[in-house]
Amino acid sequence: MKAIWRCIWFLAIGGVAVSAATGVTKVSATSGHDTRFAMMRKSMVEQQIKRRGIRDEEVLNAMLSVPRHLFVPEPLADRAYDDSPLPIGYGQTISQPYIVAYMTEVLALDDESVVLEIGTGSGYQAAILSELVKKVHTIEIISELAESAARRLLELGFTNVEVKEGDGYYGWPEHAPYDAIIVTAAAGHIPPPLIAQLKKNGRMIIPVGGVFMTQNLVLVTKDYNGRAISRNMMPVLFVPLTGEH
Ligand code: SAM
Repeated sequence: MKAIWRCIWFLAIGGVAVSAATGVTKVSATSGHDTRFAMMRKSMVEQQIKRRGIRDEEVLNAMLSVPRHLFVPEPLADRAYDDSPLPIGYGQTISQPYIVAYMTEVLALDDESVVLEIGTGSGYQAAILSELVKKVHTIEIISELAESAARRLLELGFTNVEVKEGDGYYGWPEHAPYDAIIVTAAAGHIPPPLIAQLKKNGRMIIPVGGVFMTQNLVLVTKDYNGRAISRNMMPVLFVPLTGEH
């Protein structure tokens, strides 16, 4: 689904000082601002994403078109295309552009895919997915972030994204099974409900590890017999998956 507008390499340890402000800058499609941000996006894709080996044209196009500066607090708009995560309020972050692209590419999506995201945050990763797939279901545990992301995605025309407030550990069984699942907060273990909600031949990408431990980005693939196979892809440092589970 194409919208009107066409997440942590390493999350800085100790986090980034955050305020609860989550206002976004809205700019007109023809403004000088917009041209400047489009140039910043192009440079981000060339310098940070292609150089590190992302080749999927659809992923690159989505990273080129989604206005990341509208997903960060207004005072940070000029830093939206930096090679780093940024604070989005409530102690949370929008992930580094490269990590967003990498996690998207390894899911091997197509325009018929139905995807579940755990950790909506700003809605940016969901917007990138929205450009590539049929439907995105995304769950956020912090109600204020869930609400602001839902509003932002709708205002920007990402109409194939559905946001729900809740604990993503349990997935979203009503829409299962999913072609792909992406978890954007670090879990102590791979949640069994998420494995259960993945289609045969489906893929899940999830950071696994504790807050003070090495975390690994793990790719889980479910084979035709329903057997899940995990592979460590790279070390990362994400904010933790919270909740009562
Ligand atoms: N994908 C987001 C984006 O594009 O802005 C960034 C994700 S941020 C690194 C991790 C998010 O996961 C935070 O917004 C956090 O509140 C959320 N989160 C943590 N535990 C969760 C849980 N159990 N269920 C749903 N969301 C959770």
